[in-house]
Amino acid sequence: MTRRFIAVCKSTFMKQIPISEIFGPTLQGEGPLIGKPSVFVRVGGCDYRCNWCDTLYAVLPEYKNEWEKLNEDEILSKVLSLSNDNSILVTLTGGNPALYDLSGLLKKGHTRGLIFALETQGSIAKPWFANLDHLILSPKGPSSGMETDWNVVGECLKYDVPSALKFVVFDDEDYGFARRGAELFPGIPIYLQLGTNPDDGKSTFGNQANWLLQKVMEDNWQNVTILPQMHVMLWGQKRGV
Ligand code: SF4
Repeated sequence: MTRRFIAVCKSTFMKQIPISEIFGPTLQGEGPLIGKPSVFVRVGGCDYRCNWCDTLYAVLPEYKNEWEKLNEDEILSKVLSLSNDNSILVTLTGGNPALYDLSGLLKKGHTRGLIFALETQGSIAKPWFANLDHLILSPKGPSSGMETDWNVVGECLKYDVPSALKFVVFDDEDYGFARRGAELFPGIPIYLQLGTNPDDGKSTFGNQANWLLQKVMEDNWQNVTILPQMHVMLWGQKRGV
């Protein structure tokens, strides 16, 4: 077997991941890494259908024809071309990236100095989470219409990786859900994200922030961070920023 033949075989059998979009560098607009320059890799496909999902183009099967099947080398090459071959934070998001095996991407990306953060809802735990640099779990509260299995969230958090829990809060029920998550996983930093309606270009972040601030003060919940979606404040619901 020639080397060239082996190389062709390897690339043929390398896993193909459906990619909705790769864009950046832009600013991470949410959670513990807010404000960090990052390239975003958004996979296509999700096991959830949240009521207020703002990335349905990376979720619904009718958008499948827009998703490009790329192997890890092709994803890496696009990321590095956007970062000018520089080391940068790569945010793996979706959809749900946990549907796929991204271990090879992490391994090769690390050798090129890339730093990987995964954003996922905590519905699927994968061994490759152990190789992440940051894990941001965002279990979806009652307003999403989805059910959370806290045991699986716990499985996701068992790796020795800097982790955070991010809860999108629209109403009292979502707030109660976030409190439950904080009780179940003491020691994990908690971020409460002001819920943003996907149809809402601007949002009433100020009112929501005041409401949520009052709630956490009433509960004497000090060890929590409240954040808006910074990218929505800066750029509205525009894609690719
Ligand atoms: Fe959309 Fe995220 Fe919910 Fe999937 S988990 S439907 S990507 S909000």
